[in-house]
Amino acid sequence: MSYLSLYRQWRPQTFEDIVGQDHIVRTLKNAIANGRVVHAYMFSGPRGTGKTSTAKVFAKALNCVEGPTVKPCGKCTSCVAVKEGNALDVIEIDAASNRGIDEIRDLRDKVRFTPAQGRYKVYIIDEVHMLTMEAFNALLKTLEEPPSHAIFVLATTEANRVPATILSRCQRFDFNRLNLAQLTKHLTKVADQMGIEYEKDALNLLARKAEGSARDALGLMEQVSALGEKLTPKLISDMLGATEFERLEGIAAAIASSDITGLFPLVTDTLMSGTDPRQLLGEMGEHFMDLMLAKDCPARKDLLHSGEERFDQLKKAAEAFDRARLQEIVSLIGVGLSEIGKAPNTRLALELFLARLVSAGNASQSLSAAMSETVSASHSAAVSRASAHDVTVKAAEKKEVAKTDRKEAVAQAAPVVEKAAEGPQKADVPPFWGQLLDELRLRSIRVEALVRQSKPSFDGTTLILEYPSNWFFHHQKMQEEPNQNLMKEVLKAVTGNEVAYKCVLLGDGDKDKPEKEKPAEEKEKPSRGAAKKTKQVAKPRTEEGGKAEEVGFDEIEIEDEKVKKSVEMAKALFGEVEIKIVED
Ligand SMILES: [Zn+2]
Repeated sequence: MSYLSLYRQWRPQTFEDIVGQDHIVRTLKNAIANGRVVHAYMFSGPRGTGKTSTAKVFAKALNCVEGPTVKPCGKCTSCVAVKEGNALDVIEIDAASNRGIDEIRDLRDKVRFTPAQGRYKVYIIDEVHMLTMEAFNALLKTLEEPPSHAIFVLATTEANRVPATILSRCQRFDFNRLNLAQLTKHLTKVADQMGIEYEKDALNLLARKAEGSARDALGLMEQVSALGEKLTPKLISDMLGATEFERLEGIAAAIASSDITGLFPLVTDTLMSGTDPRQLLGEMGEHFMDLMLAKDCPARKDLLHSGEERFDQLKKAAEAFDRARLQEIVSLIGVGLSEIGKAPNTRLALELFLARLVSAGNASQSLSAAMSETVSASHSAAVSRASAHDVTVKAAEKKEVAKTDRKEAVAQAAPVVEKAAEGPQKADVPPFWGQLLDELRLRSIRVEALVRQSKPSFDGTTLILEYPSNWFFHHQKMQEEPNQNLMKEVLKAVTGNEVAYKCVLLGDGDKDKPEKEKPAEEKEKPSRGAAKKTKQVAKPRTEEGGKAEEVGFDEIEIEDEKVKKSVEMAKALFGEVEIKIVED
């Protein structure tokens, strides 16, 4: 007998086997039980989420000798034929194949004939969005007047590319990406029954890697288990380049304690094991989002990228950061993700970026400055190295390069650390400072973060917030009218008096001076930088707004499940998010 992939072996045979699409299963079962089956269904959703499998179980349920039934017997000729893929009355069409149009024409001619064996002819058209306009028109004719024995299940990963005329004839079901818990549970079940040995964390890591697709999850498990070894996080990480939770945890801890010497070996080891620098930065982004979520939104454990069972660990780790710092890191990583792709040497860019991330912990310098300097530094470093080295660096040389990179990274970081000394000091703190921050935090986490990073002083009538001379971003944000008004209100609420407030840049005592050229430049950079990738990153408003189009969350429909999740997460954390849409 020929080899069957795990995915095929574990293809759902009954409604109960279908993983993670309870809402759809329930509706379909109800329709069968109540005799309310319609002629056309649209199954839309990401790949590997069970669209075709569900269509086949549905076909089985309709044509089983004991049916239509929500519990197809699995033994009758019809059930067996559907399972083996040779049922005469279940016709599968792959719209992505060249034969798409011929098959649709064929369908139009033959759909009139009564079913050969069963009650219904079930047409499953996969990737239906790939049909040509001509084929859609032919299909539409059939959908307009379907014979009573015909049922159509149109499956697609891109429902937005299916003409409205077709969509309007279908009952639509949206298949969800599977969450981590569902995927892990599924993998556990399969591994147990197949006698595959595993550590629990290994399956969790596999599930993470599969990004919501049951098919991918089983495919990856099959690939890794082919070695015949026990599945461990290390094995998975080595083979698939996914970063172990412990390692991400270590990286985050090193960043928390500004421990550059601890950070770099961890990063180097991770990259040496085959992880792409951009991927690592993405995984770090997820990890820090998890930390924020664990700190601020314990009610939404389900959104954790690393799984609900990590919640306690994450919550504890998050104590090492204050809220503003986590927000800053996540924002920085967001910018970093879009910038790192432009750097000629992504690894160096990552290392420089991390060095700045660590040092920015004290200096908390403007987001844009951190990343754009990082990229230009990596540009010049790469150019100078390119002249010295051959493009193909031997393994031994590679280590040397890594060392140099590190030195450069530390050198880059040094001046920023010095600046930190000029940062906020507690000496001039007004008596109501703590109360002011508490009150601000209730009204706007963003403004609170801006204010907290200033050096405050109070002369009895005026509160002065001072920022280091290059903190244009903070200074500028605090000049914005809504923020000015908020400050006035909160000051009055806290002190009971009209307290004036001024926001100044160090060495630039007069706040009424016209804004210099620099802030405008600062503002430009991130928007250009953020352009490419912002499709995937929902950014908090704390970051400078770009030139990209701004749309209210409710006004757009997000198709991509991953983006949807990020936006949902960002909304949970920030209350509102700004989405920049940039077409490639
Ligand atoms: Zn049957």
